[in-house]
Amino acid sequence: MLLIYKRFEELKQSGALPTPSGVGLVILRRTQSETCTLDELTQCIQIDPALSGRVIKLANATALAGSVPVTTVRQAAQQLGIRAVRGVALGFTLVPSSGAGLCTRFDYDRFWSYSLAHAVGAQFLAGERGLIDPGEAFTCALLSRLGMLALATVYPEPYAGVIDASRGKDLAAFLDAETRAFEIQHWEVAASIMEDWGLPDLFTSAVLSLGSGEGDVGGEDPLQAELSRILLESSLIAEQLVSSITAREWLLGSDWTQLMAPLPACDSDLEQLRPILERARATWEEWGGLFRIPTTIGRPADPTHVDPNTLPQIAPESTGERKKTSDSASESAELNPLTPGEIKILTIDDDPRILRLLSHHLRQAGYQVLTAGNGADGLKIVLEESPHIVVTDWMMPEMTGIDVCRSLRRVDAGRKTYVLILTAREDEQQVVDAFAAGVDDYVTKPFNARILIARVQAGQRMIELQRQVEADKTMRMHQVAEMGLLTRKLRAAAQTDVLTELPNRRYAMSRLEQEWSESVRMNRPLSVVMVDIDYFKRINDTYGHDVGDVVLKQTAAVLRAKTRRGDIVCRLGGEEFLVINVNSNLQGALLCAERLRSSVAENSIQCDGFEGKVTVSLGCAERVLQTTDIDDLLKSADEAVYAAKAAGRNTIRSSADRYPESA
Ligand code: GH3
Ligand code: MG
Ligand code: MG
Repeated sequence: MLLIYKRFEELKQSGALPTPSGVGLVILRRTQSETCTLDELTQCIQIDPALSGRVIKLANATALAGSVPVTTVRQAAQQLGIRAVRGVALGFTLVPSSGAGLCTRFDYDRFWSYSLAHAVGAQFLAGERGLIDPGEAFTCALLSRLGMLALATVYPEPYAGVIDASRGKDLAAFLDAETRAFEIQHWEVAASIMEDWGLPDLFTSAVLSLGSGEGDVGGEDPLQAELSRILLESSLIAEQLVSSITAREWLLGSDWTQLMAPLPACDSDLEQLRPILERARATWEEWGGLFRIPTTIGRPADPTHVDPNTLPQIAPESTGERKKTSDSASESAELNPLTPGEIKILTIDDDPRILRLLSHHLRQAGYQVLTAGNGADGLKIVLEESPHIVVTDWMMPEMTGIDVCRSLRRVDAGRKTYVLILTAREDEQQVVDAFAAGVDDYVTKPFNARILIARVQAGQRMIELQRQVEADKTMRMHQVAEMGLLTRKLRAAAQTDVLTELPNRRYAMSRLEQEWSESVRMNRPLSVVMVDIDYFKRINDTYGHDVGDVVLKQTAAVLRAKTRRGDIVCRLGGEEFLVINVNSNLQGALLCAERLRSSVAENSIQCDGFEGKVTVSLGCAERVLQTTDIDDLLKSADEAVYAAKAAGRNTIRSSADRYPESA
C-alpha cells in the first residue's frame, strides 16, 4: 500500500491527473460533511450558472409526471437530494474537461459512456436494495475505472503500448502490463484518487476489492460487501447497455468483457436485472444528453445485427497532428490554426433586429453563430456550447453585458472566452469599467460591420495564442511524466536480473532492509528462504552454459509461480535465490520452502539437448531476538542451506537448528 501511495503521489505531481474543476471540488468537499445544509449546497451550485441550469433541468427531467416544474436551484437540490447533486457536480465538472485526450488507443467517449452506464445501473440497484445510498452508488461506479483515464492521460503513449500489448489477452495480462509499465494498476489509481478527493473509505475499499478480483474481500463489512456487489451487478448492466456484438472490442480493442468486467464470477442472473436495466437505459440516455456523452454507440435495434459502420474503430497511429513529445525541449506542440468555420461566436442582445444583424455579418465572415436574447440565456449557452467568442450588448434589462462578463469570468468554462461588448457611447469611464469587469474589447454602436469583423479577428488571434500555450503546457506535462517514467524504468532495470527477470541482489538487500525495519516497528515476524540449485555445475559442464541458463530461467519461473502474493523472490546470483516471507514466521517459511522444493523437483525442464529435472536445497531463517541484522539473518539461512546440502540435497533445513530454543 505504501508503494501505491508513493506512485500515486508521483502521478499527482505530473499535474495531469483528471480533476473536477473549481465548483465540482467545492461541492464534493462540502457534501462530505454530515452537517452540509441544503442552503450551503444551493450556494455552492449557484456560483456556477451552468451547473445551476443543469441541476434544474435534471430535477425536472426526473420529476414525477404532473408535478410542478422546478425553477430554483434550491428546489432542485431539495428534490434531487444532496448525494445526487454531488454526483451531478462531479460529472459536470469532470467529464467535459476530460472529453478527449492524447492516448491514441483509448476511446474517451466510450469510456465515459460505459462509466455513466455503470453509474446509472449502480444508482438503480442501490435504490432497489435500500442499503446503499443511490447517489453514493452512482458516484462510486462513475469513478471506479477512473484510473484507466488517469493513466491514459498522464502516460498517453506508454498506455497505448500497454493496450496494444494486451490485445486479445485476458484481464490478468492487462493488469500485469499496467504494473510492469507503471508499477500501479488502474484500480489502485482510482482508489487513490477517491481517497485524495476525500470520498468515503467505503468507496476505496469496494473498488480495491473488485480490482483484486476478490469480491468477497469486504465480507466482514456488510456495507462494503453490498457496494461491491452493486458495482459488480451494475457492470453487467453497463456492459449490456453499452456493448453489443459490434462494441465488444470497445475501449481497448481487446476482449471487452474481460477487461471492463474484470470481476469475480458473478452469480447474478442477467435476466433478473432486466427490469432495472430497462429503467437504467432511459436514464442513461437522458444523463448522456446532459453530460454530452454518447449513449447510442454499439446499440443497434437488433442486438444480433452487426452494423459495419459501428464496428470498433482502431484509433489511427498518431499522425502529424501531434508529433512525438520527446524530440526536443524547446519544441512547440503542432496545432492547425482554426478556420472561421470552427469558431463559435455567441451573440447576446435584447434587440432582435440587432441580433439578426450581428449574426448576419458574422455568418458572412464564415463564423458559426449562436444567439441569445438575454444575459441569462447567454450564460447557459456559454456553459453548454463553450463558444470561443461572446459578442454581447451592454445595456440589457435584468442582466447587463457587464454582468454577463463578470459571471463568465467566475467559472472555468467562461474564463477563456473572448468577450466583446457593444457600447453606445465611447465614454471613457465606461470603457474603463468594462475592462475592469473582464471584457477583452469593445465595439461602439451603431457598429460598422468591417470594424466588428476586424475586432473579432483580433479575438481569434488571441484564441489561437491561448490554444498554443495550452497545447504546449499539455505537451510539457506529458514530457515530464514520461521522463519520470523513463527514470523509473532505468531504476527498475538496475534492480532486475536480466536472465530471470527476477529482482536482483541489489533489490533484495534494500528490500530486506526495508522489511526488517517494518517488522521491527510493527512487531511482526519476518522470514527468509534461501534456495540453491543442486549440482548445477554438472549441468553447465555436461550440457553447456546455454542449457544452464535455461535451467536457471525455468527454475526461477517455478519459484515465482509458487510463492504467495506479497512474498518476494529474488535472484541473489549464480544459482542462488532468496524468498522474503513478509509477515511470516519460521513455520510459514518452512511451508513455503516445502512448496518450492516439491514444485521444482516435479518440474520437467526441456530444451535443446536437455530433458530432465533439477532439485534445490533450501535454508529457512526467521528474525529472532538473537538475530542482529539482515546479514545475520542471511547467514542463518545460508548455514541452513549448507546443512541441507550436507543432509543429501533436495531437502530443507532451518535456523531452528542454530537457535533451537527460539523455534
Ligand atoms: P551444490 O549442489 O553444492 O550447490 O553444487 P553446485 O554445482 O550447484 O554449486 P557450485 O556453487 O559449485 O556451482 C554453481 C555453478 O553455477 C558455477 C557457475 O559456473 C554456475 N553459474 C553461475 N551463474 C551462472 C549463470 O548465470 N548461468 C549459468 N549457466 N551458470 C551459472
Ligand atoms: Mg548449487
Ligand atoms: Mg551455489
